[in-house]
Amino acid sequence: MSRQTVRGLHHVTAIAGPAQENLDFYAGILGMRLVKKSVNQDDPGTYHLFYADAEGHPGTDLTFFPWSEIAPSREGWGLSSEVSLAVPPGSLGYWSGRLQRNGVQLSEPEVRFGEHVLPLRDPHGLRVALVESDESLGRSFGPWSDSPVPAEHQVRGLHGARLVERDLVTTTGFLTNAMGFRHAGTENGWHRYTVGEHTSGGHVDLIEAPLANRGAWGTGSIHHLAWRVDDDAHEAEMRAAVTAAGAQPTPVIDRFWFHSVYFREPGGVLFELATDGPGFGVDEDRARLGEKLVLPPWLEPNRGAIEAVLPKLTRAAVA
Ligand code: ZN
Repeated sequence: MSRQTVRGLHHVTAIAGPAQENLDFYAGILGMRLVKKSVNQDDPGTYHLFYADAEGHPGTDLTFFPWSEIAPSREGWGLSSEVSLAVPPGSLGYWSGRLQRNGVQLSEPEVRFGEHVLPLRDPHGLRVALVESDESLGRSFGPWSDSPVPAEHQVRGLHGARLVERDLVTTTGFLTNAMGFRHAGTENGWHRYTVGEHTSGGHVDLIEAPLANRGAWGTGSIHHLAWRVDDDAHEAEMRAAVTAAGAQPTPVIDRFWFHSVYFREPGGVLFELATDGPGFGVDEDRARLGEKLVLPPWLEPNRGAIEAVLPKLTRAAVA
């Protein structure tokens, strides 16, 4: 297999409102496991909360910066506008009932590219879609035994994301030439590009919106999409490939649980390359992931000051 391709989504990071409400929704209602409670490494007075499967496998991870003091996002081009999560085939009836009982804002179910989809909004306006996906069954997935959601219905991980672009072909050329994507279909104005073989998290659906405003980050927006690379060598190859295609990537940044490179695709959406390792088990016992505030070693000397400004979180209310 060519090395000049990413392997699908590694994680998606979004901006939330108050941290406790974020925890109650993703752990309490969607039943995902809080696998890491840390801080934004560029803004250590803010949490960085990571939700995933029980093992924190790459490709299952949805993360949030709870920045409750900023304005709501402005939708428009240059942003990812929705994240989709894979759920097992036949589970949307369960999910629809569960979400309605909990007062979640749902849209009508849809069929997209042959898959059954339930679109919803999280408590802070983020667009999330649950997608019944066969692909999800073949992936690495560890059910979380303490989840309020039965294992057979649990979120299996990331399925894909939507991008809004001012100029479609500039971005699709970049995705195919530099990152290994291929065109997989067009439907209702959405253009699907897919990467990887039979993995979920391998889909981006793009729409061209030349008359829209430039989108702006705020509460309820997606901050960036991170794409999987195998290891440091693969990351270096992909970094060279996106540079050759005109992107301006950062140097490799040690995020402790993975190694990251950031760049904007030509339409303005922030992308990241992230290595599969070392992973979330590097600094915590797997049985106790997410229970205590974890800081990277260089922030550990400031633990007292950091803990003093973070809001206290209690275990998610189980819905
Ligand atoms: Zn990231």
